[in-house]
Amino acid sequence: MITANKDIKAVDLVREALEKAKEFEEYHCFISMNEARALEHAREIDERIARGENVGRLAGVPYALKDNYLSHEGETTAAARMLDDFPSPITATAVAKLEAEGAIMIGRANLDAYAHGSSTENSYFGVTHNAHDMERVAGGSSGGSAAAVALGIVQFALGSDTGGSIRQPASYNGVYGIKPTFGTVSRYGVVAMASSTDTMGCFTNNADDMNLIMSIMSGKDAKDSTTLDDFWQEKLEDGKQAEKKKIGLISDFLGDGVDPEVAKNVRDYAKKLEKAGYAVEEVSMPILKYGLAIYYVVQPAEVASNLSRYDGIRYGHRAAEFDDLDGLYANTRNEGFMPENKRRIMIGNFVLSSGFFDAYYLKAQKARTLLINAYNEVFEKYDALLCPVAPAPAFKIGEKVNDPLAMYMEDVMSVPPSMAGLPAISVPAGKTKAGLPVGAQLIGQRQSDQMLLSIAKSVEEQA
Ligand code: GLN
Repeated sequence: MITANKDIKAVDLVREALEKAKEFEEYHCFISMNEARALEHAREIDERIARGENVGRLAGVPYALKDNYLSHEGETTAAARMLDDFPSPITATAVAKLEAEGAIMIGRANLDAYAHGSSTENSYFGVTHNAHDMERVAGGSSGGSAAAVALGIVQFALGSDTGGSIRQPASYNGVYGIKPTFGTVSRYGVVAMASSTDTMGCFTNNADDMNLIMSIMSGKDAKDSTTLDDFWQEKLEDGKQAEKKKIGLISDFLGDGVDPEVAKNVRDYAKKLEKAGYAVEEVSMPILKYGLAIYYVVQPAEVASNLSRYDGIRYGHRAAEFDDLDGLYANTRNEGFMPENKRRIMIGNFVLSSGFFDAYYLKAQKARTLLINAYNEVFEKYDALLCPVAPAPAFKIGEKVNDPLAMYMEDVMSVPPSMAGLPAISVPAGKTKAGLPVGAQLIGQRQSDQMLLSIAKSVEEQA
């Protein structure tokens, strides 16, 4: 459990985390370390404790920051050459809130460049390895954050989730991950991916820790107009209070195309829920099969718009050689973006272009509304939904790099709640025979995030 323990010196906590980061260096969880500043902060906190000052709920607790959050502490790269060497001019609201409670950032965690991907293989700085198997991916895009928690380097790490980037790596590494209700945590100071579905969340080892971190980060922020009034209570309800709730087990995600060991672990998790007093019933949502198609039209459209600001003029990388203004844009983007970023920019511009807009973008947005309606209908009957996070456990490094469609298929179970703005958490459900973790996904209505954590907690309490 994360507690600000005044008997242990912040300096010792930070040193220990930095040592562990070194010990597990070959996993490549981090793009850069924040060693000197982290130790300086820790010393300050220890001095303040010695003076009897109030130092906050996370005083001296080290954490890892996904490297698409801006912070005055050094450079934010978003794992792209475009921002290699980009000193953050501001600090993200979420980061400022954690730091006001005394949390200490020890390093910038690896991700797929601009959070495009499901394996961290799209990072300009190299791949992150799975905490349970060096030959496998840690998932993505927040792979570095998930592996850092799973390896015990830190007790919590920040991630961003647009279509699964927290939940899928959490599942692959056997830790907790949350994609909160859209609008829960301010996105101010985070590199934008797809603005209608970007959410900020975290990785932890249990439901109470997750609740603590989210209660600190959540809330209205004048700098992000999509943020909701704070609905997060400080304390998590006792798991038992969530009893007598009805949970729908999504049958569409347990059959064809799903690894039998994944299906088995999720069914086992359903049994644990029953043991805790919940009524679990299979439910079919045929519309979910369109979720991936909707996402891979809407999301690249928003990516194309968000990434157009990287032109080599305002900030970031600038090509050294060019003939004219168009050449400057083209060479800068060619050098600064990774192949996956370029693919999305091209798809996005295509689906938005006149002549194709109606057939793709508009149609996808209409289908998105149907998806939202289908969820609303199902939530009239069920309090929460349960399904896997991804169709299979962590795959081998290199296995899907040359097959973008196979990589996109990874997201088939995680993107539907994203398109509807719903909260969804990934909780460890068990392991395969080969020892690879499998995550179960709990999905709820908007702002039912804490209920999902309570449900997870009631299963935790059985262990
Ligand atoms: N894997 C998904 C994608 O590549 C989700 C990424 C994310 O949530 N940032 O788009």
